[in-house]
Order: sequence, then C-alpha cells, then structure tokens
Amino acid sequence: MTARTELRRVDLRGSSPSTAELRAVLPRGGVDVNSVLHLVQPTVDDVRDRGADAALDFGEKFDKVRPDTVRVPQDELVKALDNLDPDVREALGVAIERTRTVHNDQRRTDSVTEVVPGGTVTEKWIPVDRVGLYVPGGNAVYPSSVVMNVVPAQAAGVASLVVTSPPQAEFGGLPHPTILAAAQMLGVDEVWAVGGAQAVALLAYGGTDTDGAPLDPVDMVTGPGNIYVTAAKRICRGVVGIDSEAGPTEIAILADHTADPVHVAADLISQAEHDVLAASVLVTTSTDLADAVDAAVVDQLQITKHSERVATALSGEQSGIVLVSSVDDGLRVVDAYAAEHLEIQTEDASAVAHRVRSAGAIFVGPWAPVSLGDYCAGSNHVLPTAGCARHSSGLSVQTFLRGIHVIDYSRDALEDVSRHVISLANAEDLPAHGEAVRVRFESLRP
Ligand code: NAD
Repeated sequence: MTARTELRRVDLRGSSPSTAELRAVLPRGGVDVNSVLHLVQPTVDDVRDRGADAALDFGEKFDKVRPDTVRVPQDELVKALDNLDPDVREALGVAIERTRTVHNDQRRTDSVTEVVPGGTVTEKWIPVDRVGLYVPGGNAVYPSSVVMNVVPAQAAGVASLVVTSPPQAEFGGLPHPTILAAAQMLGVDEVWAVGGAQAVALLAYGGTDTDGAPLDPVDMVTGPGNIYVTAAKRICRGVVGIDSEAGPTEIAILADHTADPVHVAADLISQAEHDVLAASVLVTTSTDLADAVDAAVVDQLQITKHSERVATALSGEQSGIVLVSSVDDGLRVVDAYAAEHLEIQTEDASAVAHRVRSAGAIFVGPWAPVSLGDYCAGSNHVLPTAGCARHSSGLSVQTFLRGIHVIDYSRDALEDVSRHVISLANAEDLPAHGEAVRVRFESLRP
C-alpha cells in the first residue's frame, strides 16, 4: 500500500499568531449533527410513543435482525464470558482493575461549612439513580468502552446500570459477545440489544419488553456513538442527562529533538486508525524530527492493517506538523488546540506537562503512549474532543454525581442576616422574598 501520507506543514516559527489564528491553523474534522436531527426526531418520537416495539422495528430496519426480547437473557451473558478468549479475558481483567483503582480514588466526600455559628451549608454528593451506557456496535466492537463507562458509574455508587448495544445478525440478534462478556465481568446484569437513536430514546422514555417485563427509563445516558446516536442524545437531553457529544478523535504530540520519530509516527498512525476524520497533529521545535517522522510514517504505513483509512486521516486538513521556535510556543499551540489526547515527548517532559492548561488527557514522556490510556493505564478514555477540553473534562466519577447543597440555619443565624436578605430582595423588586424572612420574626400587620 503506497497511499499518499504527507502531513501538511504549518510553519509558525518567527510569528506570534493570536488564539483565533492558532485555531484556524488547525481546522477540525467533524460531523454535522444538526443535519440529521430531522431524520432522528421521528425515531425518538416513535420510540417514546410505542416503546420497545418501535425500537425493535428500527433495529430490524437498520441492523437487519429482531431479537425476541430487548433485554438479553442472563444465561447469554454467562455463556459469552465462558467462551471469551482467555487472553482477552485476562487483559480486560487488568483494564478493569486499574481503571477501578483510579476511579475509586475519585470518590468525593461531603463538605460541611459552618458559615456562621448555627448556620451550615453541606454539599452532599449523591449518585445518579439509574444510568444507561451506550456501547457502539456498528462498524467495530468496543469492550474497552464498556469498562470506561461502567467503572466510573459503579465507583460513583450508581445503583442501577443498563448497557445497550446494537443487535448483531451474526449473533442471532444479541449484541457482540465480547460486549456481553465485558458486562458480565463488570457485574452488569441488565443488557439491552438495541442500538442507534432508538436505543437512546428507549433509555430516555422506557417501555415494556415483548415478554411484559418493564424497561425502566434512565436518568442519564453516557457513551459514544455514531451521528444518529449523538443526534438522539442532543434531542433527549433534558429528559435525561447526557455526558458529552463525542466528535472525531484527536492526538496532538508536542515534541523536540529528543523524541524518537518511530514512536511519534506510530502514535500519529494509531490515532488515525480510528476514523478518516481523526486528527493527528505533531507540534515540534525540530525540523529534523519532522522529516524523520514523515519518513517513519511512510515506512509504517506499508505494514499497518488499516493503511487506507490512516492515510486518508493523515493527509486530511485536520492533521499536520506544526513547526514552532520553542517549547513555550509549542505550549501555546497545544493549549489553543486543546486536544482530546496530548503527548509530551520533550526533554524534561514532566515539567512541560505540568504547564499544559488544556487537554483531555496528557501522556508524559516516551513510555506513556495514548494506546496505554485507551486500555490499561487506569485513566478514562472517554475524553472531550473538538476543543471542548478548554471547558470540559473526560468521563469520571464526578460525571455520575450530583452535588446537593443542604442549608441548615438556626433562628438566631437567620435573624442575624435577615436585614441583608430583605435589602437584596427589595433591590431586586421581589419584596415577597424579604417578607418570607420578616414574617418569621414580626407580625405581618403593624
Ligand atoms: P453505533 O453503535 O454508534 O451505531 C450503529 C447503529 O446506528 C445501528 O445499530 C443502527 O441502528 C444505527 N444506524 C445505522 N445506519 C443508520 C441510518 N442510516 N439511519 C439511522 N440509524 C442508523 O456504531 P458505529 O456506527 O460503529 O459508530 C460508533 C462511533 O463511536 C464511531 O464514530 C466511533 O469512532 C465512535 N467511538 C468513540 C469512542 C470514544 O471514546 N470517543 C469510543 C468508541 C467508538
């Protein structure tokens, strides 16, 4: 395979681009979710009105199979785990254990603040009651996504979890067996064989299964999916909470002359393997490294399995090599870009990594490639894309928690502050607000 692989170059040496200019230099690939909203809205409406029957109808249309029930029978989960390749089972075990270790440490404790004697505000962290986790199953199978969604929800204390994934004709209408096995390993016993927009709608509105069993609605839907899944999440947002809308995946690598071009090329290629719209961006102070990475990409493309897809992603507008004068300038570029995944492959990588302000996750030095984080680092791989790392975080225990303020004031503590409440209420022309305090201490009539 000798597809064109050249990464376009952007030379920023000797220039001081503004943030807006920096963002324009590195355009992002993307999908226009708005363009399918009109197609997805009728699906959501139909599932809301007809429940499981409608969801199964859409499955029959798009996935070419109709399972007997939405809910996968328990013995199928057990069977899938029994039949799982032992190497995959062992690897999933390691991924689950490490991800659990990290996410268990993210649990929050309630904070109690005594504002004044007799007046406290407590912030109570309460898990979402029931969560639906969407696991894609169209073009590929992602057992790692089961781990990355389920583990933080369980660590947060979510009591009720349902995993949903498209029915596969090849497996008699069940989701892919690796997904079932991963759910079983994680102790999730409720799995639905529904995919696409209809899955999100059924999670949001609930229904009754073909055997009369309830399919309870959830409070929150998380997990990545294709454009129809994303559109349904956008439509159902409000009826349920959602995590985020995942766009095409991205890697930025900030590297200097100390980086190994073979490693850098391999990491750019591994990201491009996801999707023709994936972005692989190298930001470097070294033209020698840039040239060596170009050469290494050509070499590695000869042997990589999905070379066509990789070459398309690497030669797209969204990918490239950005030349900068210094690591400081490089930091400005990667902060403006706010990549989903950021690798630092420079001298003193740890110190440089500590100066980064915007990235979904940061991979430090030569021994922490993004592939490690995809599976077995312990970190979460559901991360903000499309520059959303400037304002958002990846999936974590926090995603599944609600912080509730509990306000507890004594009579004296309220009386002490009452004139200020009344002043502010009057300033906002909401005198009844002030009255609600005054009436507790004085009679309404003079
Ligand atoms: P999917 O499960 O998201 O979608 C498959 C479903 O789409 C089918 O079940 C079908 O019901 C529905 N569908 C198919 N064609 C349709 C049509 N024409 N109209 C309406 N509905 C239709 O699986 P996928 O398609 O493979 O997409 C998975 C996506 O998730 C990819 O874009 C992948 O990159 C992304 N992903 C992201 C992450 C992450 O962590 N960000 C992880 C894994 C996957």
